[in-house]
Amino acid sequence: MGISKISVAVIGAGPAGFYAADSLLKKKLNCEIDIIDFLPTPYGLIRAGVAPDHQTTKKVIKSFEKTALNESCHFFGNVHIGNSISITELKNIYDVIIIATGADSDSQLNIQGSDLPGVIGSASFVGWYNAHPNFVNLKPNLKTKNVIIIGNGNVAIDIARVLVKNRKEMCESDIPEYALRDIENSSITDVFVFGRRGPIEAKFTNVELREMGELEDAVAIVDSNQLPLEVGLLDDKRDQRLKEKNLKTLQAFSNNKISDSSKRVHFPFWYKPKKILGNKKVEGIQMEKTFLNNGKLESTGEYLEIECGLVIPAIGYRSIPVKGLPFNSTDFVISNNNGRVEDGVYAVGWIKRGPSGVISTNRPDGVLVANYIENDFIEGGRKPGRKAFISILKEKGIKYVSFEGWKLIDNAEISAGVNGAPRKKFEKIDDMLDVVFYK
Ligand code: NAP
Repeated sequence: MGISKISVAVIGAGPAGFYAADSLLKKKLNCEIDIIDFLPTPYGLIRAGVAPDHQTTKKVIKSFEKTALNESCHFFGNVHIGNSISITELKNIYDVIIIATGADSDSQLNIQGSDLPGVIGSASFVGWYNAHPNFVNLKPNLKTKNVIIIGNGNVAIDIARVLVKNRKEMCESDIPEYALRDIENSSITDVFVFGRRGPIEAKFTNVELREMGELEDAVAIVDSNQLPLEVGLLDDKRDQRLKEKNLKTLQAFSNNKISDSSKRVHFPFWYKPKKILGNKKVEGIQMEKTFLNNGKLESTGEYLEIECGLVIPAIGYRSIPVKGLPFNSTDFVISNNNGRVEDGVYAVGWIKRGPSGVISTNRPDGVLVANYIENDFIEGGRKPGRKAFISILKEKGIKYVSFEGWKLIDNAEISAGVNGAPRKKFEKIDDMLDVVFYK
């Protein structure tokens, strides 16, 4: 007789959750995997985080779709674990719970004025231009000539690029019309992407940085005085190559002139935000000059003030606690020992290790957890899993969206895409549910 089925609930249908499910399937363990998400739509940050004009990056969805269509897998969208169903309830019915809820809130600036209207964290801003239902009503103030972005990571670059691209450049993207129209009608002429360290310390990857040199209406501006002649010797060869490429790109940008274009994206290095100025809303920002002293960031007491109506801190995402599970509020991750949370509970992706890396960086987390599960459940599982979960959903009157339901939403969005757009995203959860339940 074969071993009994292991019932698995994966909480979060983003890349980390799908890689974990896929790793379990590859092991050919006898298991039944339910991937649960609070949105009716799967794919987490691939749908709502990856920039709308980076459609190639989104192609990984095809392989996640294969995972979802495996007969052992089911998708349960529109189910909020922690709100409508507790972790304790899940623990009672599943042998294994894999937490893959990511990091969808913002790190905080915590400086004077950072709570003024007009300061919008990158998670919200990116959600807004990606039609995430929680952020479609954000209404950022784009009637401002200057926009300040804080941070030198890829999210900062994504935001700067989306803010200065024109309609033609975005026509093959899935940016929602409201965001495209607001950007098109904006008063933006200058976007400042501030780094508190230097060009060598910046976290941009080179493909993303180079794209800033290929914009139709905007030019990248870098002060050549801020660029070192060379990178110097780094321990990590890969890092060395990346930094050298970035330096070369920035050197090329430093030949651009302000008058070259009607819009500019400036890359001032060695400035940290000191305070955000304004009474009832953002009116400007004060930045303080910095330098590195034996690896420690120090301030000089020299200030720079810029008038602006919008400040976007793109200083990293932050995970939020999962009710009923331990949380490390220093590192903003679920308390875990390399993916182990407690008996039968595991964590993968950003909630496990913090918000860093690209999509595929999540794959090894899934492989590791699948190894744990293989060893921890040698004798198989004993809890009912899906059957009991569906009963609870019915009892509580929760309308869940299956993968077939998601495909109805997906197809409706794809058919509504016009002028080269791959899709027109629904902006409201109710409209998505209408497609599934009142087709
Ligand atoms: P990130 O790469 O960690 O960059 C965060 C930036 O914010 C850093 O420059 C950091 O500076 C700065 N920062 C942090 N706290 C600050 C503060 N209090 N004041 C001023 N600056 C501060 O984070 P991210 O851009 O959010 O990206 C998250 C992950 O997603 C990254 O791994 C990224 O590569 C990935 N991603 C990839 C793509 C892509 O491949 N196209 C697109 C988007 C995101 P320090 O270095 O000084 O700490």
